[in-house]
Amino acid sequence: MYIALDDTDSKDGMCTTFLATELIKEFHEYKLLSYPKLVRLNPNIPWKTRGNGAVVIEIGKGLEKKEVVGSIDEDIGIWSGDPDIKGRILERSKKIIKKWAEMEKEGTDPGLIVGNVRPPRKLYEKGVSELLDLKYVKSIINELDLDNWYAGNGRGLIGAASALAWIPEDHTYELIAYRDPTLWGKERLIDNEEVKTLDAATEKTFDTYDHAEKKQAVAPNSPCPVLYGIRGEQTSELHLALDTIKNEKPNRWLTFLTNQGTDDHIKNLSIQGLEPYLSAHIIGVVSSPPYVIPGGHVFFEVSEDDSKVTAAAYEPTKGFRDTIKKLVVGDKIELWGGIREKPITLNIEKMKVNGLENIFVKKGNPVCPHCGKSMSSMGKDAGYRCKRCRSKADEEEARVEILDRDIKEGWYEVPVVARRHLSKPLKRIL
Ligand code: ATP
Repeated sequence: MYIALDDTDSKDGMCTTFLATELIKEFHEYKLLSYPKLVRLNPNIPWKTRGNGAVVIEIGKGLEKKEVVGSIDEDIGIWSGDPDIKGRILERSKKIIKKWAEMEKEGTDPGLIVGNVRPPRKLYEKGVSELLDLKYVKSIINELDLDNWYAGNGRGLIGAASALAWIPEDHTYELIAYRDPTLWGKERLIDNEEVKTLDAATEKTFDTYDHAEKKQAVAPNSPCPVLYGIRGEQTSELHLALDTIKNEKPNRWLTFLTNQGTDDHIKNLSIQGLEPYLSAHIIGVVSSPPYVIPGGHVFFEVSEDDSKVTAAAYEPTKGFRDTIKKLVVGDKIELWGGIREKPITLNIEKMKVNGLENIFVKKGNPVCPHCGKSMSSMGKDAGYRCKRCRSKADEEEARVEILDRDIKEGWYEVPVVARRHLSKPLKRIL
């Protein structure tokens, strides 16, 4: 039996992943039959609270414990299941949401789905990369006869259904540690050095420590129940965090299977095909010099045939902007990023430089082929003449050299502190 939920938090608190731990507690007579899932959906939708994440758990009668994946008062394992499960799961899940969700806050519109079947993967593909219509999602929920409940405008059903439809093609894990409720809202005392140690000790973790900014990236800034989250490809490495990050002992922890760091949100598109709220991978040529606007945001134009779009590296992308400033007209690049609506702008997450344009600088006047002497200019754009034998040379015949470019072909990405949850880090690509 699957339980999927979304939209339970507000900017002031709570976290949908925490409700997963409460649901596991509530259904203590059942067992987890697979990893709890944390599914990130379209990062460009305007009504998300933070990271547009929804969660799914699968519970049932357990036959045999396979693996420990968390601790919520006691070890939480994954079990092989007994398919014969009944019970008033929807009612009880509803109670948990009502108890914990920030229901009275504007923009919190929880959605809950309980069922034995899952929507087709296509729904996930749309949910992670497009704007979904609630009516359409409800029609799928009804077609599959999935038990559901929602509050507010019901938008939470979109995330819950899309997350339930996620059958991973690529996946990563996140171990999330939660704070004791008495500490919620209080400052987190995460030691930078401990996170750095964890980062160095683990091969397959990512987005943990920002070496350029010298900042840990595991603790959220919001007053939510999360103490820290460690992302990676191997669950055994993630467990190291529990012994390495010591200043505050977590009250509970749970490892999620997630679509973070997969680029699942990205579609390969032509520049002409770009639309607001999508995320795209485009191939083009730099067609305007980069320029900086007040606030430190850097923009430039990129073109493909007759179409062009403005690409942006905003201030939070820090040192990445310095790389962008080194681009010149003619450079061949690929970009990955989300599309902002007005004006249509591609917010860069990653870049691959495929070809650098040569920049020629004049080194000197041409040398006369007859006399071997440097020729003299005849005025602006008027060419050159040899003073001795009167031979002439065109403007283009001046001696030039190719300037060393301060940027190399290859991959570039925004720093960890500016990384989107879904963005595939270069660490997972190269
Ligand atoms: P957190 O990550 O902290 O859980 P959040 O950023 O996930 O918070 P929510 O409060 O869940 O934000 O709000 C996102 C809302 O957008 C939810 O109601 C979700 O159902 C809905 N939603 C998610 N994906 C889409 C989509 N592709 N199209 C339309 N609505 C979506």
